[in-house]
Amino acid sequence: MISFGCERLTFGYANLPSILDDVSLTAQAGELVAITGPSGRGKSTLLYLLGLMLSPRAGAVLVDGDAVSGLRDAQRSALRAQLLGFVFQDAALDQTRTVMDNITEVCLYGDLDRRLAQERAQLLIDQLGVQVPAHRRPGQISGGQAQRIALCRALVHDPAVLLADEPTGNLDDSSAEGVIHAMRRHAETGRAVIVVTHDPRLEQACDRSVPL
Ligand code: ADP
Repeated sequence: MISFGCERLTFGYANLPSILDDVSLTAQAGELVAITGPSGRGKSTLLYLLGLMLSPRAGAVLVDGDAVSGLRDAQRSALRAQLLGFVFQDAALDQTRTVMDNITEVCLYGDLDRRLAQERAQLLIDQLGVQVPAHRRPGQISGGQAQRIALCRALVHDPAVLLADEPTGNLDDSSAEGVIHAMRRHAETGRAVIVVTHDPRLEQACDRSVPL
């Protein structure tokens, strides 16, 4: 059962002053944790650090108590593919590839069998009620659909840790409910889920909030 988080994390972009200073948080297996706070405080940046896409100036990202943020690039990439699912705020789907190929992209980097991934992808699409044919391209679907497809992509390899940036940002109540339900269900299967949100519907469904 995983324990995931960060300890005494400090970070600033390039030569700029630090925007995160001494930040610690942990999500245990089974927990859905919200990171909250005003715009510009560094919530997305913290999620990129937790997602091993940025490196801290001080402190560490911890997996089961082991510091992983200082590993070499290749090891961090492998860990990301194996362990993490990440939902970007703007979905960040590959415009040149179909919805199905976007979701199953992780097969290129991890151990997941392609056929199994496609089955899981379709199940997630159905569970989240995204009514788009899987052969469409991201330019042919709505922003709200893209946001949910991005969640399918993050969940398809059943990651031990799910990180999501404003995953209900542009969704109506019914779609947001589906997304919240999927994240709760993921946590309840023994995964750790951390979301950045200012959406009260999502914050209420979280076990805890960590204000930045
Ligand atoms: P939040 O998610 O809380 O709105 P962000 O993490 O997006 O905050 O941004 C925190 C601060 O870092 C903001 O002042 C933002 O302008 C700045 N920032 C974000 N990305 C970069 C970047 N790539 N280079 C320099 N500054 C950045």
